[in-house]
Amino acid sequence: MLMGGLQNFLRGALDFLFPRHCVNCGKSNPNDGYGHLCAECRNAPFARPVNRCLRCAEMVGAAAPVFRCAACENSDFYFDAAKVACEYSGAGAALVRELKYKNAPYIARDIAKIISESAGFAEYFKGAVLAPVPLHKRKMRKRGYNQSAKICAEIARQNPNLNIAVAEILRRKKFTQTQTALDKDDRTKNVKGAFEIAKNNLPKDSKIIVLDDVMTSGATLNECAKVLKRAGFKSVRAFAFARRS
Ligand SMILES: [Zn+2]
Ligand SMILES: [Zn+2]
Repeated sequence: MLMGGLQNFLRGALDFLFPRHCVNCGKSNPNDGYGHLCAECRNAPFARPVNRCLRCAEMVGAAAPVFRCAACENSDFYFDAAKVACEYSGAGAALVRELKYKNAPYIARDIAKIISESAGFAEYFKGAVLAPVPLHKRKMRKRGYNQSAKICAEIARQNPNLNIAVAEILRRKKFTQTQTALDKDDRTKNVKGAFEIAKNNLPKDSKIIVLDDVMTSGATLNECAKVLKRAGFKSVRAFAFARRS
């Protein structure tokens, strides 16, 4: 009781000294539990669950979840399943931009919270080893941190009961241009051979989840999954916070 009161007082004092604003709409945003997103933006359509293919995370309309869809029927994904928490639009996109380009690693906390509250989270993440998509050391130097690794660490920290581990199993050996402006085929070519296994002693039956902040065509996550599967890991799934399209 007393501790709670003190905590609320301190938080109120901090908000007074350093007023927080919603990264999406700019409104001032006191104590609502989502540090950098106001309650209104938190409940915006970006976070509304949509039906997605369980294999490739493509939208499949109003139909019940399927394990193969038109988009992944003829593709050779190496990951066993893929899942995302929200759309890359509105507040979801605003959080990612803030995390990646505004030197704001603490945004990973908000993102991890949204992920942790997304449908099917516990089932997907229980007992998993999270492998962040690595940055090339040149980009790492520029940004100062790997945004995906920050999200992984926060997911593990916020869910102590789910026995989630984080392991930087992958390393980026090739500097690649940003995927944003490329089409699907070029994305696949662009990341080909970009990753390798970093030294690790993980058992090959670990339940690996390769995690990225954003998924578009799935090319990056797929290339990571390929390297892991070829290294002998049997269970490799993909996860991204937000999906474009
Ligand atoms: Zn807002
Ligand atoms: Zn699919």
